[in-house]
Amino acid sequence: MTDTGDFDVVVVGAGLSGVAAAHYLRTRCPRERFVILEGRDAIGGTWDLFRYPGVRSDSDMFTLGYSFRPWTSDAAIAQGADIRDYIRDTARAEGVLPHIRFGHRVQAAHWDSSQAQWTLEAESGGQPVRFTCRFVFFCSGYYDYGRGHDPEFPGRDQFRGRIVHPQQWPQDLDCAGKRVVVIGSGATAVTLLPALAAQARHVTLLQRSPSYIIAIPGRDAVGRALQSVLPRKLAYWLIRWKNIALSTLLFQLSRRRPAAMRRWLVRQAQQRSGVEERHLQPQYDPWDQRLCVDPDAGMLRALRTGRASIVTDQIEGFTPQGLRLASGQELPADIVVTATGLRLQMFGGTRLTVDGDPVQVAGRLSYKGMMLSGVPNLAMSMGYTNASWTLKCELIARQVCRILNQMRATGEAVCVPVYEGSAADTRPALDLTSGYVQRAADHLPRQGTRKPWRIHQNYLRDLLALKFAPLRDGALRFARRGETAR
Ligand SMILES: Cc1cc2nc3c(=O)[nH]c(=O)nc-3n(C[C@H](O)[C@H](O)[C@H](O)COP(=O)(O)OP(=O)(O)OC[C@H]3O[C@@H](n4cnc5c(N)ncnc54)[C@H](O)[C@@H]3O)c2cc1C
Repeated sequence: MTDTGDFDVVVVGAGLSGVAAAHYLRTRCPRERFVILEGRDAIGGTWDLFRYPGVRSDSDMFTLGYSFRPWTSDAAIAQGADIRDYIRDTARAEGVLPHIRFGHRVQAAHWDSSQAQWTLEAESGGQPVRFTCRFVFFCSGYYDYGRGHDPEFPGRDQFRGRIVHPQQWPQDLDCAGKRVVVIGSGATAVTLLPALAAQARHVTLLQRSPSYIIAIPGRDAVGRALQSVLPRKLAYWLIRWKNIALSTLLFQLSRRRPAAMRRWLVRQAQQRSGVEERHLQPQYDPWDQRLCVDPDAGMLRALRTGRASIVTDQIEGFTPQGLRLASGQELPADIVVTATGLRLQMFGGTRLTVDGDPVQVAGRLSYKGMMLSGVPNLAMSMGYTNASWTLKCELIARQVCRILNQMRATGEAVCVPVYEGSAADTRPALDLTSGYVQRAADHLPRQGTRKPWRIHQNYLRDLLALKFAPLRDGALRFARRGETAR
């Protein structure tokens, strides 16, 4: 194994979070020597990987954009390629590029208390390479890049058409004039449907159960007005806070008045699409799973025009011509898109050990949604499930910088969150009922009932907890090399 360097900080991943981490390390911790290890050969993570037709954001760009780099278009919902360009341009402008080592996939990370050091094993060009560092910051996203969730439906081999998964969209796939069936009812299916309906002969959304679909304007009219009269940065700041307030309000209303929200959400979707209510009425309350946004009601309008339709049923299996459903209905198809979701994965699949003991993530508690109990000098960038990812990922990056600066000032070499409560007082860190979360429940950390162990999915609370709360809060312990964290 080749030793390729010793750093103060290793950042894993050069997506939205990795670029934010690098920006803050450069501006707030200029003395820390850091490197970004990126498994792929491109910047942008999610926004470079996903190439299916219509791929776009589902939260607004004024909050998905970085606080330090205004999103200057009035498009609130942006196309994937534009987000990719935005992340790349940011990396270039912020001087992040020279820090990235592409084609370096991290496979294992070992903490050694006697040295207060991480050793990272990575693979690069088929060769094993090794890095050492004081602190490791995982910005590796939350799902398996290798493959998505693709359930084995019986009879798949007999199907004479093509089956594609949105995570590996074939760039040569031509849907023009074809009958397309999209299996799924989540954000990806809702995004794909209007884009495919514009080309295909017909698109059928085949869902086991419905999701909430909310039509929103693709452009921000208030934002445009502010942008036209105010300086760029001030306009961005105001639009950002307006949207934080609006999304918080929508989430809180959904939590406090679920019945009223449920009625309103279903009614607006029904009126726009003309589809029977049973196809639009989920079995769960709003925000038990993410809401699916439909910019400019593109999907709901496609349903109304008849270019697309919804079927709510169970799949029995493939036939040579399409799909057979539990109700007995046959759905003819030339192309079947399995928009069946992601496979959740923590730390980009990296095996972690602490002093030789494997870290079982499911047995650990998440500290402020950014560190793991009992795992020293390690942070992870995890965004919100109910608001833009970037809001939390920037708070976490800044908090990492605060911790590093404090350790440098005091000469302490170790920081580790220590949980002393009872395991009975814990619950899963992600409290969504979505299939992709439930499938991975055994591999995800847990959260506690009180701060700093409780995850609120609330930007304002996190702003207080991560920006202003003292670092020495009793749970996060610091120590010098060779000492036990007290
Ligand atoms: C289709 C889609 C649409 C989405 N839309 C939104 C949205 O509108 N709003 C929102 O807030 N969120 C959205 N999300 C969530 C989205 O993932 C985040 O917005 C954000 O892109 C996450 O950024 P990240 O840098 O943390 O992770 P990622 O974008 O996943 O990037 C992680 C990077 O780490 C690299 N990596 C992973 N493991 C390793 C390893 N072991 N070694 C080296 N490198 C590694 C990957 O190659 C990748 O480049 C969406 C997700 C998907 C899949």
